[in-house]
Amino acid sequence: MSAAENLSPSLVASAAKPLVEICADVRAGRTTARSRVDHFLARIAAHDGAIHAFNEIHADAARAAADAVDAQVKAGRGQDLPLAGAVIAIKDNIVMREGKTTCSSKMLANYRSPFDATVIERLRAAGAIFIGKTNLDEFAMGSSTENSAFGATRNPWDTARVPGGSSGGSAAAVAAGFCDASLGSDTGGSIRQPAALCGCVGFKPTYGRVSRYGLVAFGSSLDQIGPFAHSVADAALVYDAIVGRDELDSTSADAECAPLAAKVAEPLPKLRIGVPREYRSSANAPGVAAVLDRALAAAKALGAEIVDVDLPLTDIGISTYYVIAPAEASSNLARYDGIRYGHRAKLAPGEDLEALYSKSRAEGFGPEVQRRILLGTYVLSSGYYDAYYKRALQARRLIKEEFDRAFEKCDVVLGPTSPVVAFPFGGKSDPLSMYLCDVYTVNTNIAGIPGISFNGGFAEEGGVQLPVGLQLQAPAFAEETLLRAAAMLERACKS
Ligand code: GLN
Repeated sequence: MSAAENLSPSLVASAAKPLVEICADVRAGRTTARSRVDHFLARIAAHDGAIHAFNEIHADAARAAADAVDAQVKAGRGQDLPLAGAVIAIKDNIVMREGKTTCSSKMLANYRSPFDATVIERLRAAGAIFIGKTNLDEFAMGSSTENSAFGATRNPWDTARVPGGSSGGSAAAVAAGFCDASLGSDTGGSIRQPAALCGCVGFKPTYGRVSRYGLVAFGSSLDQIGPFAHSVADAALVYDAIVGRDELDSTSADAECAPLAAKVAEPLPKLRIGVPREYRSSANAPGVAAVLDRALAAAKALGAEIVDVDLPLTDIGISTYYVIAPAEASSNLARYDGIRYGHRAKLAPGEDLEALYSKSRAEGFGPEVQRRILLGTYVLSSGYYDAYYKRALQARRLIKEEFDRAFEKCDVVLGPTSPVVAFPFGGKSDPLSMYLCDVYTVNTNIAGIPGISFNGGFAEEGGVQLPVGLQLQAPAFAEETLLRAAAMLERACKS
């Protein structure tokens, strides 16, 4: 495919140069963090009205943080800052002291966190600068960002279309050139699917790789934080800064995590790419199937071996996920009762505590969040627990074992990230058709393995060129293989 610039409408911006070089420039004083922040603030001021990637811009804090980085560089301490001057946007379900953390919900419309998430502390220590909080589907439930209580985000490639979700604001902010990179959360695809629909890279690490301390919980056995960026190499640089054990998140893994950014450009000489038959479904849009075929041809030309694998449980991923995730959400969201946390309804004279709870929750939560809470409460209730929740856990084990078997035959699994390209607003109006967008992404979380989406090419729809994302998955903790393979394919798909 030709360079993205040839196709880009004015709202899309690709990176000027690799982030690793930009940060080296800041460290060497060839450019300043401050000038970079000013550039992004100007671009946001000019274009975010059309996109609505952000819930909140932290202009003053970003300028002050940039000045502090520049002062550190002047004082000769720049070498300690691998992300010196990197400007990063944060999904609005990751807490930081600056500004509000709303989860794009009325429930938390005025919530201010008294502490920073671990990922925020780590990025700041690495010299990164936070430019603002990005829009999402309320409490990260959705695949289009249409469920935000503050209005949808628009796709920079075509503002009549959705950016994907739930991290639609983080994906759109990168695609529109509002920041160098961003963070999102991925419970069933919320990093990878919007990255695919917005033409950028979105990377969900292995469950436990990145601390979730300070991420507002959705499905705790599935949630993981990860980066969006313009390239696999840029995503690796951000990942290197946030990865690793954190005492404050008991699920964080104590696994080896050597820096990967410098390694991603090294090709893998004997890469075996597994392509599941089930990922070539006739439900894929024709443009999506064509991009996958071209990528496979390009991978073969590079010497990769293409292996047929079977993941017959791909189809039951959706029903498994939409039992487990709502069950966990119904428990995690119980704390938003108007007393411990969140919006508190006004009571009429004579109304009791029960009314306070139910009114607060009815007013504070939007329809999709209410649907998930009801569904989750139902599948956990006595009499239904065995039929739904227990069965879903059994299916989860089978899905994990199916991946284990596939990875005996290949190093990575390749397929489309999403069966469709970015769709028009209102295009998936019934919940089930929205859930089906996640067919290729939910099993990654169910199995706890890492997955990355990168731009594989473009497909024309309605007279517009729209990005098509391809997804690679690898065994748990095989991030090095995953990122090196993704960088190889990313290059191959561009040439
Ligand atoms: N689209 C999926 C859902 O609605 C995934 C969300 C996510 O990963 N946070 O639940």
